[in-house]
Amino acid sequence: MKIICIGRNYSEHARELNNAVPEDPIVFMKPPSALLVSSKPLYYPEFTTALHYEGEIVLQIGKNGRHVQPEFAESYISGIGFGIDFTARDLQQQCKTKGLPWEIAKAFDGSAPISDMVPVEEFPDFPEIAFELHKNGTPVQTGNTKDMLFSITDIIVYVSRFFKLQMGDLIYTGTPAGVGPVQIGDKLEGFIRFPDGLRKMLECEIK
Ligand code: MG
Repeated sequence: MKIICIGRNYSEHARELNNAVPEDPIVFMKPPSALLVSSKPLYYPEFTTALHYEGEIVLQIGKNGRHVQPEFAESYISGIGFGIDFTARDLQQQCKTKGLPWEIAKAFDGSAPISDMVPVEEFPDFPEIAFELHKNGTPVQTGNTKDMLFSITDIIVYVSRFFKLQMGDLIYTGTPAGVGPVQIGDKLEGFIRFPDGLRKMLECEIK
């Protein structure tokens, strides 16, 4: 299985990092060893002094497909979850400045906390999903997938041009504005809005 991530998918977030709004989705990947399940803690990596959270909606792929056509794109999604795309912002900036790939800043062990997946049928407004990330009990990011620059359909169509989608693959769909640093001792909590209210999907303490 693979973990596909989309960058700069909310214009306010692109602006807060002084990035241009992209013409095509920005795609990168993390290996399965990046996943952090069951709300396990993340141990602050020694190679960075600027560990940042990025709260994101994650799509789970339910069937295999290549060159998916737009009218069928949403049918490839079986589950929805909450994930954090942890980023070593200092290393990422160095990579970007040098024009180098940024895996060491994005794909390190534990850089992808992931919640349990909820069947897509439980979201009556799909593909619109509202979500929040709280840090130490305070909301720091609020987002809705309807504000994504590239919709869920756009992402599925684009990614499947290059990579065969396979059952069980995960797609991190990008983060809204409000990203920021964490310190040892901080606690992050990810929420998704359901018809009966906000549901806590994930927590991650920095140790
Ligand atoms: Mg991200």
